[in-house]
Amino acid sequence: MTIEDEMTDVLSVNPKTVSYTDPMTGLGNRRRLMDKIRKLASERADDPAPFTIGIANIDGFKPINDLFGHAAGDEILCQVAHRLRACLPDGGFVARIESDEFAFILPLVFEKKGAEKIGRMFKDVLSAPYDLGDRNVRLSASFGFAVYPFAGEQFAELLKSADTALYRSKRRGRGQITVYSEEIAEEMRRGTQIEQALRRAIIADEVAVHFQPIVDLSDGSIQGFEALARWTDKELGFISPADFIPLAEERGFIDSLTETLLKMAAETAKHWPSDLFLSFNLSSAQLIDPATAFNVLSIINRVGLDPRRLELEITETAMMSDPEVAAKVVTELTSVGIRVSLDDFGTGQSSLGRLRDFAFNKVKIDRSFVSEITIDKPAEHIVRAILAMCEGLDLKVIAEGIETEEQAAKLRELGCKSGQGWLYGKAVDAATTFSLIEAQRKITAEAARGFATGS
Ligand code: C2E
Ligand code: CA
Ligand code: CA
Repeated sequence: MTIEDEMTDVLSVNPKTVSYTDPMTGLGNRRRLMDKIRKLASERADDPAPFTIGIANIDGFKPINDLFGHAAGDEILCQVAHRLRACLPDGGFVARIESDEFAFILPLVFEKKGAEKIGRMFKDVLSAPYDLGDRNVRLSASFGFAVYPFAGEQFAELLKSADTALYRSKRRGRGQITVYSEEIAEEMRRGTQIEQALRRAIIADEVAVHFQPIVDLSDGSIQGFEALARWTDKELGFISPADFIPLAEERGFIDSLTETLLKMAAETAKHWPSDLFLSFNLSSAQLIDPATAFNVLSIINRVGLDPRRLELEITETAMMSDPEVAAKVVTELTSVGIRVSLDDFGTGQSSLGRLRDFAFNKVKIDRSFVSEITIDKPAEHIVRAILAMCEGLDLKVIAEGIETEEQAAKLRELGCKSGQGWLYGKAVDAATTFSLIEAQRKITAEAARGFATGS
């Protein structure tokens, strides 16, 4: 709720008709939380003793709901509410503020360590099995805490800080606990600075696409290129896509960024020889958007790139957030001839079954295995197993991050056909990419001439 919403609430609502209770769980609701926090903050304004608020969010609640049905989902939420209320420390308060989100006030917790301790206790309490009559279900929860007045003096600000902390927890995986801190505040400020510069750069066409060759490991000939975003801001300097892509996702403008990047990449690829493909990274946000296939197709149609020359790279983690929509997006893409590859394979929570359920065409073995392949036996075994499995499933494989000739030789020996990495070239701009392609054409033509003349 924004400050404006709150103002409207305060001005227009008759307190007698307003509900302060969440009917399903019997806990207080967001309005009750707001009242309580305001009251406590005004009491503590003179006596500057801190207090803490926190938010708990159930991990992967949507899949639970989809799998067991809404009645079971409601039952779990009621049990969560009951447990949280039962283990609240003295003077504490808990409310349900969103479908699977609970917020609490801890008047006697003054600092980070105390908040983390309570967080761990809540986490343990929530992780015990839930009895649904015919079955037991387990789940985990993520937590974000904010300490008054450091993390905010007003309700909205304090709740936003707890929410930011919660978001950090979610980003680190399941069952994490984060307390809003000065470092997080500083990161947020820097994030906002980057966000503003990036939004401006997108409009001014200052974000560029570079291309890294993907080669045939048997002879090093180029098969296609992966498009990688590049951006250097005048003041902030070079910023890695590993930083600005997640930021654009987080702050909701990844669509316009992707559109710009895909348009540029396709414009370039259109002029390559038609046997070379373009591989483009889709962001996780796009895999939960049912309009993605349509959007991608309309961009490349407008540019005039044959969909059969386009590959889209998606990560397992991205697929997992809403597997149903993701599966639909992948099927729609492949039905119009676009190929889909699974990026960073081996690093996410991949179930091998996913490879069968989804209509993928390729798997990209993550650099972390490739970089260890000549020095670490387990890494070699993993790569061997991935290759065998992909062969059985009729999936092509690209090994990522090949840096040395030894790694390439090992991969060839294991039967891997394609690869990319600094050994074959870093990502370079469109003009340099054309020169690379030209150089290769010359070599191939000369070899063919030599073959024809027998020299
Ligand atoms: P990624 O998709 O796994 O891309 C491969 C990354 O590994 C690239 O980093 C590439 O420059 C780097 N790399 C390639 N070969 C080697 C090697 O031999 N050794 C080492 N050490 N690194 C190598 P980059 O360009 O910094 O991109 C980082 C990540 O940012 C990408 O990981 C991808 O997840 C994301 N990204 C980049 N461009 C885009 C884009 O246009 N859209 C989206 N959604 N994500 C992008
Ligand atoms: Ca990639
Ligand atoms: Ca990758």
